[in-house]
Amino acid sequence: MDLNYSDEEKAFRAEVRAFLAENLPVDVSDKVRRGISLGKEGHEKWHATLNARGWLAYNWPREFGGAEWNAVQRHIFEEECAAAYAPRIVPFGLSMLAPVLQKFGTKEQQDHYLPRILSGEDWWCQGYSEPGAGSDLASLKTRAVRDGDHYVVNGQKTWTTLGQYANWIFCLVRTDPEAKQQEGISFLLIDMTTPGITVRPIVLLDGTPEVNEVFFDDVRVPVENLVGEENKGWTYAKYLLTHERTNIAGVGFSQAGLDAVKRIARIETANGRPLIENPHFAARLAQIEIDLMAMATTNMRIISQAASGQAPGVESSMLKVKGTIIRQEINDLTRRAVGPYAMPFASEAVEGDNAPIGPDYAGPVAAHYFNNRKLSIFGGSNEIQRGIIAKVKMGG
Ligand SMILES: Cc1cc2nc3c(=O)[nH]c(=O)nc-3n(C[C@H](O)[C@H](O)[C@H](O)COP(=O)(O)OP(=O)(O)OC[C@H]3O[C@@H](n4cnc5c(N)ncnc54)[C@H](O)[C@@H]3O)c2cc1C
Repeated sequence: MDLNYSDEEKAFRAEVRAFLAENLPVDVSDKVRRGISLGKEGHEKWHATLNARGWLAYNWPREFGGAEWNAVQRHIFEEECAAAYAPRIVPFGLSMLAPVLQKFGTKEQQDHYLPRILSGEDWWCQGYSEPGAGSDLASLKTRAVRDGDHYVVNGQKTWTTLGQYANWIFCLVRTDPEAKQQEGISFLLIDMTTPGITVRPIVLLDGTPEVNEVFFDDVRVPVENLVGEENKGWTYAKYLLTHERTNIAGVGFSQAGLDAVKRIARIETANGRPLIENPHFAARLAQIEIDLMAMATTNMRIISQAASGQAPGVESSMLKVKGTIIRQEINDLTRRAVGPYAMPFASEAVEGDNAPIGPDYAGPVAAHYFNNRKLSIFGGSNEIQRGIIAKVKMGG
């Protein structure tokens, strides 16, 4: 296996870098760097910029209007975007639902929904988790009962990320309560403007309403919004999750975070010297850097395998655990680097409404520390990933 980039790959990197230099507005990258929320409009603008260049749906096959990049190209793009502080591409329509529709949807569903994902006309959210059905997702209870040419949906979803912006939600619903858990689930596409849907914000530790509860009260959904076969939704749900875990290592985000903490530690002082020279601080920084380099190499190894057609197995669980630990460590170290300025953390700093208390870079630091507790919970909690690793590698 070759872990070096080819000339062609280096040229691709230069092309991506030039595109970002030309098309990523400084005020947007500045917001991303400082961790200030972009709001719906900010995300939509970046979505449109990438779409105009043909680089939005880079993981889609060409037949559906995608760029069909290989694993190495995707990695290079993600690394360059993180280094340039480009906004994160909202994944729910593009990287989660789209692959499911492309594989299991009808031609009508593909023709209707895929172009609307590209144009940004539809903003999708993910209706999987429920109170009591997170890690144990198959125990979900939201019910869909067939009534003529509609399903009538009743129940509740929770932790629905950015559901406040969404006009569509893809949902796992129980269509056969008598069948074995995994066998009675279906995959439904639901228009969020249908009567009977209530979205209620959940305010997270950082004070922002990033997630929501979504309630369904006799919501009528046309049967043509069923994806694939009734009661086969678990198969599609699992297929979607393999796509949710792309870019799971988040090497680019960690690298950008590490650069930021180094910048701060050169400015902040401890005992009259730059903090970066403090032996305890420097040792922690070095440890994170070593861990990140080791993970980046493992990531490249897996990307190289993927580029030659091998599907990643338990390695993606490994990258999820290690990648999120490293990002949380960086958050912790940054919070320590700004010292008392991390204390008066305020959601206003993330929303960009108020001048930060203390230096500019200190404003959202504590909020990020709190917000990124989520990294080890969503996308399959780290405990669940460790269970998978143990089962595959040690048996049992
Ligand atoms: C910020 C955020 C955004 C999210 N966005 C979405 C979204 O958009 N759509 C969506 O559908 N869901 C979303 N989720 C939900 C997420 O997928 C679940 O939180 C996750 O699957 C864990 O489920 P749970 O919260 O019910 O915790 P539980 O499953 O109840 O777990 C509680 C604790 O027990 C541990 N645990 C559970 N089972 C085991 C086991 N078998 N072995 C060892 N330890 C175990 C877990 O690791 C965890 O520490 C989001 C969550 C967060 C925090």
